[in-house]
Amino acid sequence: MIKTQWEPSQMRGPYQIGERRIYKSCAAVRSDDDNEQDLQSSSIGRFSAACQVTHDAIVIGLGPAGSTACRTLALKGLKVAGIDKAIHPRYKSCGGCISPKIDGLLGFDASHLIERTIHGIAFTYKFGRRLDVVSDRPLGYNVMRGAFDHLLVEKAREAGSEIIEGCRVTGVSDDGGHVTVRTADGRGLEARFAIGADGASGFIGRERFGLNPRECAVSLTAEVPYGFAGAKEMTDRAHVDFGSIPFGYSWIFPKKDRLSIGIAVDSMRPGAGAKEHFRELVSRHPVLKGIDERAIKTDGWTVPVYYAGIKDMVRGRIAIAGDTGHLVDPFMGEGIYYAAASGMAAAEAVAEAAASGRTDLSQYQRWLEEDVFPELKAACRLSEIVYRHPRLWYSIIEKEPEIMRRFYGVLRGEEGLAPFYGWVMSRIKARPWNLLRHWVASRFRPA
Ligand SMILES: Cc1cc2nc3c(=O)[nH]c(=O)nc-3n(C[C@H](O)[C@H](O)[C@H](O)COP(=O)(O)OP(=O)(O)OC[C@H]3O[C@@H](n4cnc5c(N)ncnc54)[C@H](O)[C@@H]3O)c2cc1C
Repeated sequence: MIKTQWEPSQMRGPYQIGERRIYKSCAAVRSDDDNEQDLQSSSIGRFSAACQVTHDAIVIGLGPAGSTACRTLALKGLKVAGIDKAIHPRYKSCGGCISPKIDGLLGFDASHLIERTIHGIAFTYKFGRRLDVVSDRPLGYNVMRGAFDHLLVEKAREAGSEIIEGCRVTGVSDDGGHVTVRTADGRGLEARFAIGADGASGFIGRERFGLNPRECAVSLTAEVPYGFAGAKEMTDRAHVDFGSIPFGYSWIFPKKDRLSIGIAVDSMRPGAGAKEHFRELVSRHPVLKGIDERAIKTDGWTVPVYYAGIKDMVRGRIAIAGDTGHLVDPFMGEGIYYAAASGMAAAEAVAEAAASGRTDLSQYQRWLEEDVFPELKAACRLSEIVYRHPRLWYSIIEKEPEIMRRFYGVLRGEEGLAPFYGWVMSRIKARPWNLLRHWVASRFRPA
């Protein structure tokens, strides 16, 4: 197994994530030198007379977005609290396949959590025709989310974040000079800034930023222990099926002693229910042959994919990151990398603002508009082609597997999704009659 170090190896984006500039937090200002002038001029000093501003920042939700935000803020010397309604390690319904784009981002080694490194994908069309596109370099790291997210929380704690678990946040408001975060146990925490990272099940994106929770994919997943006939196939290859689900796809990701299997279907499009599609995956996918269907326990969740019209991720002193802001690629459903990257970028913007005594978090918004939204928009366009015309798409990649090989470069961060999309379109446009002929022929071929 090729291991990734997931060590900081390169600077990314305008915030140079991984940089270690230390800003003084309010606590540091007080304890350093009791300088009355400093205390008066620090924002926290000003607020403390009127209200109990106890933290520079409060982060709501401790998935990959929230815990990386906490760690980044704590490493910069800010006083930060991260609150999660769950107690880690918690179960998270997820394929758990992280793209190598994450290499160098986290700033610490998490390679011991990789259960399988993926080097290829077996694409099928309606569980029939199969196309294996393999690579000699990794294109995915499969982890169990409970363990992965737990490590991220512990790294945030280690860096100096205050971690509050088992505590549900019920409200967050920007009260002009500070934010107030209310919890179900009746606490009211006040801070200079807040980062909303409460994920797909949270309320901040919906209630505070007006994002549409119906713009999502509905998924059903299960963890299946090995020990059935097809399990021997499970090496370093993921399985992805197009065509069996209208406006969606199914996947099988191998882990150490089990498979993560699942389906995702666009909640805004008509089609059979998720349960029916899941049953079809289990009964028809060749590698799941011999599996005891009755022993499978499913878990339903939503994937808040990016959609056209998403704009503001910052309102006053509050920024949102990860699933809260629908930062999930609608083509393949990749969200872990975007959660970690956006959590860090939001934290960088908070640290910059706190250091300069401003409330302006617009550098985070700019990073999203320049580096992230164009990628996710390209993923929207690509998914329109792939999921509206899965048979045509499958015929194209059968004929030109190079397309998927180049997509692996996108997963590795060697190329953006936007230029990849442009390249795919130019390739399709350059061969219109050829492909059309192939597509017509494919319609008469048995699936
Ligand atoms: C079925 C499925 C399969 C997926 N497969 C993949 C994959 O293979 N690869 C990939 O890259 N992405 C995948 N994704 C997407 C990925 O799981 C998410 O994008 C990622 O978890 C986003 O991280 P996050 O930190 O934003 O949110 P989350 O990981 O959801 O964390 C949010 C946290 O907020 C907490 N919270 C919620 N509400 C409150 C509250 N009121 N108060 C306090 N805490 C609260 C929750 O307990 C949770 O810990 C998948 C998603 C699904 C549903």
